[in-house]
Amino acid sequence: MKKILVLEDESNIRSFVVINLRRSGFEPIEAASGEEALEKLKVNPDICLALLDVMLPDIDGFEVCRRIRASGSKMGIIMLTAKNQEIDKVTGLMTGADDYVTKPFSPAELTARVDALIRRLGVDEDEKSANEIVSGPFLLNTRNRTLEKDGQRLKLTQIEYLLIKLFMENPGKAMSREDILAAVWGSDFTGELKTVDVNIRRLRIKIESDPTEPEYLTTVWGYGYKWGY
Ligand code: CA
Repeated sequence: MKKILVLEDESNIRSFVVINLRRSGFEPIEAASGEEALEKLKVNPDICLALLDVMLPDIDGFEVCRRIRASGSKMGIIMLTAKNQEIDKVTGLMTGADDYVTKPFSPAELTARVDALIRRLGVDEDEKSANEIVSGPFLLNTRNRTLEKDGQRLKLTQIEYLLIKLFMENPGKAMSREDILAAVWGSDFTGELKTVDVNIRRLRIKIESDPTEPEYLTTVWGYGYKWGY
């Protein structure tokens, strides 16, 4: 469960936030003062996001935010600001907060902001795996459209990239030349099926150790090709 620090000195608002975070599947860590928040952060280094009230009895929320950032932490920070405190929004974003929510807020609004920020923060890691297809010695990155074999970058044309992407996304599936042509060149392409063979041959030269005895991009006789090894 993702831990979220809830720094809020007003206990009724704090419990309202805590209950709603818990309901959304988070693990809230409560703090009623700035110092307490910094203590809790020290004990819970896995806190991924902090909700910081601004007006506190000791050090204010901006100072807490500043100290979190000064420690090098990249955790998500949402400031809980009072209504019409435009200056708070500016100060908050300047001190390194990612977002702010104006009080009074609804549970739905708060969890939407929390979810959105967590998505934004998690984007790097999640996108990395979502954008990578691994097959044998090959690593295809669909974000920067690159292919590596045993860690070595292979230079591909756009057509070759689209071809290998099609195959790596469909491992073991026999694909007809017609299917390949439609998927890579588009269904309104009027070229010959031979185009597929020509480009497969070129691709094999780049990816296979022995293009005459393909190991990865194999031929399905009388039909087409498949990513089968
Ligand atoms: Ca307060």
